[in-house]
Amino acid sequence: MDITVIGTGYVGLVVATCFAESGNDVVGADLDENKVDMLRQGRSPIYEPGLEALLQRNLEHGRLRFTTDVAAAVRQGDVIVVAVGTPPDEDGSADVSHVLDVARVIGQNMDRQKVVVTKSTIPVGTSDRLRDAIEALSPHPVHVAFNPEFLKEGSAVADFMKPDRVIIGTASDHARDVLTDLHEPFVRSGNPILYMDLRSAEITKYAANAMLATRISFMNTIARLCDAVGADVSDVRKGMGSDDRIGPRFLFPGVGYGGSCFPKDVKALAASLRRNGVDPVILDAVEGVNEAQKRLLLEAMDEAFPEGLAGRSVAVWGLSFKPGTDDMREAPSLVVIEGLLGRGAEVRVHDFQALEEARRRLGDRVTYCERNYDALDGADALLIITEWQPYRRPDFERMKAAMRQPLILDGRNLYEPDRMRDLGFEYRGVGRGSAGEPAASPA
Ligand code: NAD
Repeated sequence: MDITVIGTGYVGLVVATCFAESGNDVVGADLDENKVDMLRQGRSPIYEPGLEALLQRNLEHGRLRFTTDVAAAVRQGDVIVVAVGTPPDEDGSADVSHVLDVARVIGQNMDRQKVVVTKSTIPVGTSDRLRDAIEALSPHPVHVAFNPEFLKEGSAVADFMKPDRVIIGTASDHARDVLTDLHEPFVRSGNPILYMDLRSAEITKYAANAMLATRISFMNTIARLCDAVGADVSDVRKGMGSDDRIGPRFLFPGVGYGGSCFPKDVKALAASLRRNGVDPVILDAVEGVNEAQKRLLLEAMDEAFPEGLAGRSVAVWGLSFKPGTDDMREAPSLVVIEGLLGRGAEVRVHDFQALEEARRRLGDRVTYCERNYDALDGADALLIITEWQPYRRPDFERMKAAMRQPLILDGRNLYEPDRMRDLGFEYRGVGRGSAGEPAASPA
């Protein structure tokens, strides 16, 4: 099948590469010349496990190519996949202007019937606007579909290759048949393809992300109660999660969710609800709890250093919004680091993939450390923000020897509080009141 993917960011690049890997001829089109240059050389602009090797293989086999000529790319494809960004507008609603720009280019370059399938996350009703924009410019039949993308950064290739489910929202039988054919190689083990109307599919994507964000904010609230009364959220989590109506996933408290999806999708869904006369009180609360949670470690630092942080050195482990990616969009680390710098601390940071991205965002205001132990040299505290796997079993003696004060504020509950105390650390996790030193007397 001849496929054109417009927008070669986190989603578009993975989609283009994986469709080429299953034998299709794919052209990826993007306005960003630097990105396209890198891709043509077989270099991935983002870190994503397995992606670069797949990219190189499909370039070599001639099934995948990249261009900045979006119009020519549109003419090439029988299926046009739209994967451009939908960033938040000032009021939190999703800005769909890139999607509608693409619709116009498609409309101007339709030379035969085509399937146009959007993978960008778009507010309910946007697929209809996209179809209207194309039809206003072209007499050829356009078969519009919405196929939400559920890949997770950090395991994007694996998620795309083995999705839990594929959702195809469309009113067109032709789009349904073509997209079923395209996705069948990825659901051979029986995971379902679900068909629905466009609007239901558009809502499904937002509802799924908002539900996951809700679980996180809910657990962060429970964790605060655990800290306040000296209970252990890890036990509460296991007790809740073993109820199979609830299930164990996405119940881990932490320093708040970040990334390019949850924050913007929760806000955009709230805006859709508001626009349609539905009170988004639950989503506003999810968002409010998350904003507060990003400041949890700063609150803990203020408690630990009542005299202030001027002249203190603070180590930060983990900058990306989650492990397995170099993406720092909306990362809690940025809030924490800005807060530390604002309080006059010297900040030494480490991450396994995001140091370059951090340099781009933070410049020379912090010290970048290639090895995690280097960040600890002379540190008065270590703040753990991203749960990269190698942080889980470090050499604690080496850490203690490097630090000026053995204080660890662990935003991801990587360690056991009792063990850390035995090792001579002052340690505080999230909601682990009874497992370590109670953070406060029970009320
Ligand atoms: P991104 O910013 O990484 O990539 C978007 C790309 O589109 C950029 O390379 C940009 O240059 C290009 N672009 C913008 N306007 C264009 C135009 N008119 N023509 C051609 N190219 C254009 O974004 P992303 O993270 O890949 O997200 C894309 C969409 O997918 C968003 O709607 C997002 O919500 C959704 N989504 C993202 C993820 C994720 O994990 N990142 C997961 C599921 C869904």
